[in-house]
Amino acid sequence: MQLLFLGTGAGMPSKQRNTSALVLKLLEERGTVWLFDCGEATQHQILHTTVKPRKIEKIFITHLHGDHIFGLPGLLGSRSFQGGDEALDIYGPAGIKEFIEMTLTLSRTHLTYPIVFHELAEGLLFEDELMTVETRLLNHVIPSYGFRITQKPLPPKLLVNKALALGVPKGPMLARLKNGEDVEIADGQRVRSGDVTEPEEPGFIVTILGDTRFCEAAVALGRNADVLVHEATFDGNSKKMAGEYGHSTVYDAAETARLAGADTLIMNHISARFLPEDDKLLLKQMKEIHPRGFVAHDFAEFDWVQQDKKIRKKQVSRP
Ligand SMILES: [Zn+2]
Ligand SMILES: [Zn+2]
Repeated sequence: MQLLFLGTGAGMPSKQRNTSALVLKLLEERGTVWLFDCGEATQHQILHTTVKPRKIEKIFITHLHGDHIFGLPGLLGSRSFQGGDEALDIYGPAGIKEFIEMTLTLSRTHLTYPIVFHELAEGLLFEDELMTVETRLLNHVIPSYGFRITQKPLPPKLLVNKALALGVPKGPMLARLKNGEDVEIADGQRVRSGDVTEPEEPGFIVTILGDTRFCEAAVALGRNADVLVHEATFDGNSKKMAGEYGHSTVYDAAETARLAGADTLIMNHISARFLPEDDKLLLKQMKEIHPRGFVAHDFAEFDWVQQDKKIRKKQVSRP
């Protein structure tokens, strides 16, 4: 799993930061990528990366503000031009279907693939054998949602050579051992599953939030997350303004991460008033409350390392 930030700004694009879009790469896990929000020019940002629009399996929209959705019609059209014919799931608040259908109809854009719309309602949004996605309503000036993506535990690994050395014959017994069953081999000896398997490993938990003030729902969504992506439109000293505009400060984001027991906080949706050199200040404020985190920049990429269950920053693919 990787997180690739395509746009990390608030409200409107600046030279440093485009408007919101974040790719959750699940290429090893499911051969696809998921997109969270799609601000204007998201498809231009994608051109600077290795992401293929036809690989986008699902798009999650946190809320209907323009800086989170104005890139959708163009991206959907290009996905069609580039030969995408797989169905696309779009999850978003009430109104998302109308917005997309109206822009596509009026611009006579015909897609080569079907879109399946899912209107957001709190609770479990999606589940298959690999992962679940839950959603909660946050606290912004219009309905805004957050998502908790949980990878199901990775199945136990069978230590084949160890099993063979103990005398287990090749064939169905190996599968039974892998599935946690003890078996009896020909000489009457029992082989315990636990002796020839490595235990199942927990998967990752990623929480991605839309614009929000500090709220309990954000803490619940971020509970024990390996990574919490939280907006920090304002620095710690702008509490009043953040509240008025329905946004969070760095302190709000850090406090949410602390209360949730999240491991790593990544702050995005950063106001254009903050330049790269201000990262130091923002991180200093964050660390007063939560020990580990980053300020996201456009094209910043983070890798999930299964072995030590940590999300780590990769190189910036475009300065
Ligand atoms: Zn926004
Ligand atoms: Zn907003």
